[in-house]
Amino acid sequence: MHEFKSKRNSLYCENIKVLDLAKRFGTPLYVYSYHTLIGHFLKLKTAFHSLNPLICYSLKANSNLAILKALVDKGAGLDIVSGGELFRATQAGCPGERIVYASVGKTDREIEEAIHRKILFFNVESAAELENINRISKKLNTSTQVAIRINPDVEPKTHKYITTGKLTNKFGIDFKSAYQIFLLRRALSYVRISGIHIHIGSQITEAEPYLAAIKKVIEFVETLRKKGIFLEYLNIGGGLGIVYDRETPQTAENFAKKVLPLLKRSKLKIILEPGRFIVGNAGILVTRVLYIKNTPKKKFVIVDAAMNDLIRPALYGAYHTIIPLHCTPYTVHRTEKIDIVGPICESGDFFAKDRNLPKLKEGDFLAIMGAGAYAFSMASNYNSRCRAEEVLVVKDEVFIIRKREVREDLVRNEIVPAFLSGL
Ligand code: PLP
Repeated sequence: MHEFKSKRNSLYCENIKVLDLAKRFGTPLYVYSYHTLIGHFLKLKTAFHSLNPLICYSLKANSNLAILKALVDKGAGLDIVSGGELFRATQAGCPGERIVYASVGKTDREIEEAIHRKILFFNVESAAELENINRISKKLNTSTQVAIRINPDVEPKTHKYITTGKLTNKFGIDFKSAYQIFLLRRALSYVRISGIHIHIGSQITEAEPYLAAIKKVIEFVETLRKKGIFLEYLNIGGGLGIVYDRETPQTAENFAKKVLPLLKRSKLKIILEPGRFIVGNAGILVTRVLYIKNTPKKKFVIVDAAMNDLIRPALYGAYHTIIPLHCTPYTVHRTEKIDIVGPICESGDFFAKDRNLPKLKEGDFLAIMGAGAYAFSMASNYNSRCRAEEVLVVKDEVFIIRKREVREDLVRNEIVPAFLSGL
């Protein structure tokens, strides 16, 4: 599945020992494997090759320019959700016709910038947004292509915070309202509605929720056809789950086998927007044990990474496999139950609770697996902690792809008014 492998009791990323990287670059440290990243993209491309879809990597999962450039060079498009992400897409050299833009709250400035960049289309999330895009397009005297994001009201069987396709979620437009929009589309003469978009959630491990959503959408597309309304694109979003713990997510091949017959029936050009599937297992977070602390109830292993580096456990109670980098067959057999926690002043700042791990001591290094997606991209400076370095391993070579922040970065944009400086 990925290029992080244990060889002779040491964890390797491609051909490089992770422990050597930790010692060379310091910790906390994000380590990415180039071949895992590209391998996952190519797995999806191969599985869907009979439809030749546009695979728009969802850059919110990990938006480092090197990651984007690696994927764009292999033919990926990008799924963006903000002006900042459009800027990154541009920096990475992604052609406009390979960019799709979702988000429930696009501002006028963001819409104008994306129109100027000639993106493929906006995934429109409300009637009000559609009217606004029409108004801005009129002002710019251009015709803008859009897809309607449908909220198909299906249960994706994932964490409620990453469920996006139920009618209680803020995303997309219900079928009835979408139908009204299509009937009234002629009133909006500066937008061309040429596609349907769905994205039902994230870390989805089964095909059934996709099948349920796609079936509903295809029936809708057929209803529109009967009314003489013809579309060009069907964007089925992202959401494919990966292994963090004992999940058994579908492979790209199995997923494709299940959805391809339906997608072919649609006779539309297919777009996918995977994020986590491509980058999730292509990265790890390496951290060092600072202290061991025993309380009457627990044993805490305090490490130098924290929830500001990887917020998923705090945010969703998410599980990440943790591998000590010093493991020998001897240590593996002497396990104990511990909590692994960071230094931040929140009880939610943990990476593992009541986890059985080999006995650890100060100075040991740990790899927190599955930290490629929604890790650095959700990182913050909380507790005035500098964001960690990111490195990319390509076989025997390692490249710094983001420098470790320094203290000056923390206050770079802050201004103390003159009256406080005594001036
Ligand atoms: N597309 C849209 C519209 C999203 O909101 C997201 C994630 O939130 C994705 C794609 C990517 O999801 P994932 O990383 O689960 O593939």
